[in-house]
Amino acid sequence: MQKKRLGKTGLMVSELGFGGIPIIQLEANDAAEMVRYCFDRGVNFFDTANMYMDSEGKIGQALESVRDQVVIATKTLERSKEKAAEHIANSLGQLRTDYIDLFQFHNLSEISELEAVLAPGGAMEAALAAKDKGQIRHIGFSSHNKDTALKVVQTGLFETIQFPFNFLETQALDALHPAALEKDMGIIAMKPLGGGMLERADLCFKFLQQHPHVIPIPGVSNKEEFDQIVSLYETPRSLTDQDRQDMERIRERLGDAFCRRCGYCLPCPQGVMIREVQMFPAIMNRLAPWQAMVFMKDAMATAEECIECGECEEKCPYNLPIAEMLSRHAESFRKLEASLN
Ligand code: SF4
Ligand code: SF4
Repeated sequence: MQKKRLGKTGLMVSELGFGGIPIIQLEANDAAEMVRYCFDRGVNFFDTANMYMDSEGKIGQALESVRDQVVIATKTLERSKEKAAEHIANSLGQLRTDYIDLFQFHNLSEISELEAVLAPGGAMEAALAAKDKGQIRHIGFSSHNKDTALKVVQTGLFETIQFPFNFLETQALDALHPAALEKDMGIIAMKPLGGGMLERADLCFKFLQQHPHVIPIPGVSNKEEFDQIVSLYETPRSLTDQDRQDMERIRERLGDAFCRRCGYCLPCPQGVMIREVQMFPAIMNRLAPWQAMVFMKDAMATAEECIECGECEEKCPYNLPIAEMLSRHAESFRKLEASLN
């Protein structure tokens, strides 16, 4: 597999990375086998996060013996120095390593979060202190909101950006990718398969091949899926007219039913965690039912507080029927809980 330079980090990473969410649903040994399978076929870039349940531990177990041959990225949702420092220590332990190649601030989707990270006593201080000690080599961020992400890029403080990118979610192309490239940042594409919304892997990866400046990190949980993606990605192809028509058809079908997790609808006066609740169908596709229940429990509790005021719907750029979607997800979650109790 070809390697590419991850922007100014200078890290040379495989043109396909490994997204660490789906291995949550695998038993520890199966997860380790899956990670090693990808490594043996040329993947050297593994992305995970402190919040992905046991994903860091599984990746750590799988890659401990080849640590010097891989690039490991993880993330924290913490915004304070103290809590972020705890997360860094925890990640180092879980990943069985004494350094993290790329440490990312997870989901900087609101300006207030960026401000909290950069404030005195904020999480950036912990990251910089860890960098001084050699525990972190590079600092990046992830986001779902293009306006906020653009402001984060413009600070010049981050070496990589991780943002959704697939043929349904192309909003990064206009200003975000050019701004990041201008600053020589590495660009990591999360959700290359639409976060489980897109079945046509062939179209997804053909689309991504047209944008060689991004490193996609598909989440895979079985070898066949991985082999299919590699075979698609390793053959350079351009989009045909038929492909473009197929993509347009899928865009039209999913356009009204697909939350991009951008957060423009926030804040909800009732404290509903709209973005997180909207993840529920994708999480159900990716995790075992009991894991989905544990993972989603706190967010789904807030869905019960929705009073259908409609405030969020006025702000959603995709005109999603948010209250109705939340109600549907809340009902599915109640059924899930009932089936497991
Ligand atoms: S509901 Fe709409 S505004 Fe809110 S996160 Fe989803 S796509 Fe964005
Ligand atoms: S409709 Fe529900 S989720 Fe949306 S702002 Fe109102 S209470 Fe919050």
